[in-house]
Amino acid sequence: MHENHNALGVALGQKPTQPVTLVRPHAAHRAARYFLEKFPGTSMYAVKANPSPDLIRALWDAGITHFDVASIAEVRLVRGLLPHATLCFMHPVKGQEAIAEAYKVHGVRTFSLDSLTELDKIVEATATDGVAATDLTLCVRLRVSSSHSKLSLASKFGIAAEDAAPLLMATRQAADALGICFHVGSQAMSPQAYAEALAQVRVAIVAAGVTVDVVDVGGGFPSIYPGMEPSALDGYFEVISRGYESLPVSYSAELWCEPGRALSAEYASVLVRVEARKDDVLYINDGAYGSLFDAAHVAWRFPVALVRGTDSRAKTMGFSFYGPTCDDMDFMHGPFDLPADIQAGDYIEVGMLGAYGSAMRTGFNGFTAGATVIARDEPMETAYGVTEESDAKVIRLR
Ligand SMILES: *Cc1c(COP(=O)(O)O)cnc(C)c1O
Repeated sequence: MHENHNALGVALGQKPTQPVTLVRPHAAHRAARYFLEKFPGTSMYAVKANPSPDLIRALWDAGITHFDVASIAEVRLVRGLLPHATLCFMHPVKGQEAIAEAYKVHGVRTFSLDSLTELDKIVEATATDGVAATDLTLCVRLRVSSSHSKLSLASKFGIAAEDAAPLLMATRQAADALGICFHVGSQAMSPQAYAEALAQVRVAIVAAGVTVDVVDVGGGFPSIYPGMEPSALDGYFEVISRGYESLPVSYSAELWCEPGRALSAEYASVLVRVEARKDDVLYINDGAYGSLFDAAHVAWRFPVALVRGTDSRAKTMGFSFYGPTCDDMDFMHGPFDLPADIQAGDYIEVGMLGAYGSAMRTGFNGFTAGATVIARDEPMETAYGVTEESDAKVIRLR
């Protein structure tokens, strides 16, 4: 992979005509070290946030050994890259063939579920000659509120704590280790989300009267975006630790988490070119069908910066973006704050696209990604503190 110090180096040196992905392995490494050193349990990476092999390897090199995979393609991908990683198949609704292949070919032992049908499916798919597997870790997914989060994961999966007792008891029978998992929704803006969810875990455990070996608090750990500035992550870990310690099973159980966004957001940014300007709307060469799906569909505001050889003295104003396809829906409202003299031919760096950015890219209408370049500067935001001297333009120390 090509290497260049930062976005300006790429813009001036290569004058790219397609969106360029700038990746920062050092930022992923730092995020992983933070979780490994501060989260009071096991941190797995939720691969769907960004399945890039380079990122997966960078996280492994930093010490992440567990990966939350949600499809057979993700199982195969991570197993192919990391023969010794522990893979946990945490999608509560899976195909029978996917479960069987994951168990028999790729060594997956941990599965999640939220219904008796799925439990039967897992038991059947992992049996050998009619003899049930005795080495399964099965995690019952509870339905918890997404009210503190920017993206809900509350309606699709999970069983309510009040209704979970029969499923927990049946799963206890089939499992070597029984887990309870949940997801508070992505970009949880308050640690209270985890406290409330852990209170639901307590309700479920008490009602079922089962011993629980794993409590998995899922993902949802926030990154920093304009207008979304959560409190520091170690405060989240403290709230989780307190909620977990107050459960009747904490003396013998393990605590897990599954961050996707928090381990990957700072890993990548995208350098786009302005192709045209009409008043406060910029026509850029990436969009809703590229790395800006969330900007278009859930009004996510990513940080942006003008990338130009000479500094602009113009005042800042709010812009909206149109992406390159012919579709009206390829529109990112923003507002994205940029110098008022920005014009066609200028480049913009859109930051914090390592999570749910390039992972969502399609080739619709013939617009695809350009090169991927390793950058050595700092990401536009960081939740983890910058320790060394750095020449980054925008750094928030926390
Ligand atoms: C998406 C997902 C995650 C990661 O969520 P983030 O909000 O990116 O941290 C973790 N676990 C499960 C089951 C998921 O579906």
